[in-house]
Amino acid sequence: MSLKIYNTLTRQKEEFKPIDGNNVKMYACGITVSGEAHIGHAIQAMVFDIVRKYLVKKGYNVTYARNYTDVDDKIIANANKLGVPAMEFAENNIAKIDHEMDRMKITPATMTLRATKQIADIIEFVSRLIDKGYAYPTPSGDVYFAVEKFGEYGKLSNRNLEDAYQGVRIDTEEDKRNPLDFALWKSAKPGEIYWESPWGKGRPGWHIECSAMNYYNLGEQIDIHGGGRDLIFPHHENEIAQTECLTGKQFAKYWIHNGLVKVNGQKMSKSLNNGITMKDLLDHYDNEVIRFALLQTNYKNDINIIDGLFESARDHMLSFYDTLNRVYSTFPQTNAKNPVIDQEFDEAMDDDFNTAKALANLFGYFKLINTKIKNNDNTAVADANAIIDTYSLLGLFQTDPKTFIANNTPTSDIPHDIQDLAKARWQAKQNKDWDKADELRAQLSKLGYTVKDSKDSYEIIKN
Ligand SMILES: [Zn+2]
Repeated sequence: MSLKIYNTLTRQKEEFKPIDGNNVKMYACGITVSGEAHIGHAIQAMVFDIVRKYLVKKGYNVTYARNYTDVDDKIIANANKLGVPAMEFAENNIAKIDHEMDRMKITPATMTLRATKQIADIIEFVSRLIDKGYAYPTPSGDVYFAVEKFGEYGKLSNRNLEDAYQGVRIDTEEDKRNPLDFALWKSAKPGEIYWESPWGKGRPGWHIECSAMNYYNLGEQIDIHGGGRDLIFPHHENEIAQTECLTGKQFAKYWIHNGLVKVNGQKMSKSLNNGITMKDLLDHYDNEVIRFALLQTNYKNDINIIDGLFESARDHMLSFYDTLNRVYSTFPQTNAKNPVIDQEFDEAMDDDFNTAKALANLFGYFKLINTKIKNNDNTAVADANAIIDTYSLLGLFQTDPKTFIANNTPTSDIPHDIQDLAKARWQAKQNKDWDKADELRAQLSKLGYTVKDSKDSYEIIKN
């Protein structure tokens, strides 16, 4: 079976064929380390870690590079607020983010790159663009890319220059030739961190960092370039312009973009104060529970974090682990593995990394295993072994069942009077006394609790 990937550049699913035989070069834009890692960062890192691991499973030799943008306006501003040097602030954030990624069981990339470690490369890249006539320095010491010089500008985001003009703010104070031109090099304001360059003291623009890190670490062309969908324009569009003007070759063959995060249907934002940090998430839920919750949505789609999402993922994982526990305490362990489970997993993943389908398959497998336990059919062991082996690629079922169950079974912290009210409401509902059930629900709601019913039980949630 061959792998098909949805390519943002061509806007269709295509069969994956690397440029250089069995070797795959892949780059994903990493985090701008201006603060803590949030759930969006976790999703992006997890998605491209899984893409890499699946390519390895398919037999490819994968070089995967990820970067940290460790200098930019926001980093400088946030460091100033705290009164610490920008580099120290960035360094501390990287250490914290690495720690959360490790808790989330994300395997580090083959190459972890940092913008500030490649300033000389970036300066060389910019100089060559100026020499070729694609970029120009200004009297104030900035360097801009001249967008009109690149005839294919807009091909990734599928917009022409006219459309693109609509999307930009016209900055009158800058000495740009064209409002769409973007900074390759920014002159330093007094007190800001800087590096010496042919254009004076300054620092690189964000877009050039990724082009330069790609070029100097992976070469002129790569197979896969990834990132969040919000990076398509202008960031990835600008990366293409810079690199293709330098090399005259197609930069990345496949562009993969993951969806964005919403919290109860709304965009995550500072003003709504609905952000979810990785630390908070991992303090509350097991990394396998988080993975199960997030991978139920296909990577391309937006993930909507609704109330109860992680609790329901935890309940599914608990029930799966309970079955695994019963399999291994009922039958002797063997080395057998049911090959069908792995085949069906690959079929799902070959279809543009369809983790949603792969997770949906689990419900059928566990249902069958439960029946086999009842019927004393020891082929349940081969099924369980295959699930543990195959789903390790998604980071699932990597814990000893008894340990997982002990660590994740919720201990109720709901006060007794609330529990009693909820029980009375459930009883009323069973008795079809709808008025009383509604009245008790309203009472609970006033006290700050919601009850969520499933087929044969209910859950009390603190609002
Ligand atoms: Zn980038």
